[in-house]
Amino acid sequence: MADPKGFLNHGREVARTRPVEERVKDWNEVYVPGSLLPIISKQASRCMDCGIPFCHNGCPLGNLIPEWNDYAYREDWSAALERLHATNNFPEFTGRLCPAPCESACVLGINQPAVTIKNVEVSIIDKAWDSGDVAPQAPERLSGKTVAVIGSGPAGLAAAQQLTRAGHTVAVYERADRIGGLLRYGIPEFKMEKRHINRRIEQMRAEGTRFRTGIEIGRDMKATDLRKRYDAVVIAAGSTVSRDLPVPGRELNGIHFAMEYLPLANKVQEGDYVTPPITAEGKHVVVIGGGDTGADCVGTAHRQGAASVTQLEIMPQPGEERNPGQPWPTFPMLYKVTSAHEEGGERMYSVSTTHFEGDEDGNVQWLHLVEVEFVDGKLNQKPGTERKIPAQLVTLAMGFTGIDQENGMVSQFGLDLDERGNVARDGDFQTSVPGVFVAGDAGRGQSLIVWAIAEGRSAARGVDRFLTGASGLPAPIRPTDRALAV
Ligand SMILES: Cc1cc2nc3c(=O)[nH]c(=O)nc-3n(C[C@H](O)[C@H](O)[C@H](O)COP(=O)(O)OP(=O)(O)OC[C@H]3O[C@@H](n4cnc5c(N)ncnc54)[C@H](O)[C@@H]3O)c2cc1C
Ligand code: SF4
Repeated sequence: MADPKGFLNHGREVARTRPVEERVKDWNEVYVPGSLLPIISKQASRCMDCGIPFCHNGCPLGNLIPEWNDYAYREDWSAALERLHATNNFPEFTGRLCPAPCESACVLGINQPAVTIKNVEVSIIDKAWDSGDVAPQAPERLSGKTVAVIGSGPAGLAAAQQLTRAGHTVAVYERADRIGGLLRYGIPEFKMEKRHINRRIEQMRAEGTRFRTGIEIGRDMKATDLRKRYDAVVIAAGSTVSRDLPVPGRELNGIHFAMEYLPLANKVQEGDYVTPPITAEGKHVVVIGGGDTGADCVGTAHRQGAASVTQLEIMPQPGEERNPGQPWPTFPMLYKVTSAHEEGGERMYSVSTTHFEGDEDGNVQWLHLVEVEFVDGKLNQKPGTERKIPAQLVTLAMGFTGIDQENGMVSQFGLDLDERGNVARDGDFQTSVPGVFVAGDAGRGQSLIVWAIAEGRSAARGVDRFLTGASGLPAPIRPTDRALAV
């Protein structure tokens, strides 16, 4: 156990962020570099090593949190790293980006601020990278079996790393020009610098994983041809179809899906453009959708020099405390102030867009909205609350409806979909087509990085069993275990 009195002697202290006026002028991560490590042992000492660690259950990866808290408290960084990597291939991604359902389930959180689990996680792995302790783990023997992974987001990367380490020859096919999925082109640099992805890719290459970019399965290569060339396939193609807003004026210039806008900003950081083809500079920006994707648009618009940024959400503003329907240890819907929100802009709740208005050149200028309220479970517009706000760039960040079916991959494989339009799978993450597996948002629907990694690991075990009849890879989470979904 870490310090038995740690939680009595030390309060919760989290990573410090850089001043807003400084950070909006650059794209680097918002945190003060190096500020976490000096406080992290004390923070880890607050862990009570509970008899039943509910944080394990809160974490979809089942991370061994009290174990690595103990090692972090004792500053035994190499033991902490070994326990961290035992369940998580990419803690530098989750340690930066996870909403930390583990902390919502922390026992200390019942009557005190929870242990800063996510900060401990990122400190252990950042220290390990800085010290050169993250080495490639190439397999000792090759199985002679081949696996294709479609998609290089966190699910595909986790599956590929597990299968490569199990001795299979793995190739990752990615339709984009770079590896990383939403980690690369959705999530902005200020939330996670892309160097973290690049060095993991280097580690994976050194272990033997092969990467093929610019190839879209279904379009550039038939899914059936791919299946013939490999002994097994993992589909980790994400849930990439954006939800649209079919209201009058939607066709005007300047209205874009978030995933048309954010990748261009990320491509500027990669050096592909000097200025982004879609920019918020000097414009009144409206972001429709109150979630993470919307917050990423807000932070991006601030950095591009928007004249104003307004974020709209159709649902009411969540409370700052748990409501009785979301008791500990569940992950509650709470009012969140992300780093992007600290940087400015306005948030409007309980509003719905009725239409857009443009100028004579067909460029959007105004967004018309109305206040809404739930009456008997039905969303009603409040009469007399219609108004318009300036909108010269609008981003639609209202979620994703499922796997891309236009490129032909789903039909060429002949995959069954579930009732929600995701790729159906069994307890081994195998689809309706033998030897074809699915992991991450493609099977689960729009979710989180931590779930994508967990499912990638689980699908890898299913593939390993399919290829060899048994597997030493970690046991899968249950794909139906949606009770933990956040
Ligand atoms: C803007 C944004 C911000 C987010 N922020 C967070 C966050 O802060 N924290 C968090 O936990 N989650 C966040 N999420 C959710 C998270 O990114 C996803 O749940 C996660 O990336 C899903 O991983 P995946 O591997 O299943 O799919 P993806 O990351 O979507 O990767 C799928 C990959 O498959 C490729 N692909 C698709 N079809 C084909 C094909 N036919 N052939 C070849 N390649 C193909 C795609 O190009 C893509 O690279 C965010 C999502 C968005 C959109
Ligand atoms: S991956 Fe997420 S839920 Fe799991 S320990 Fe890390 S921050 Fe917590």
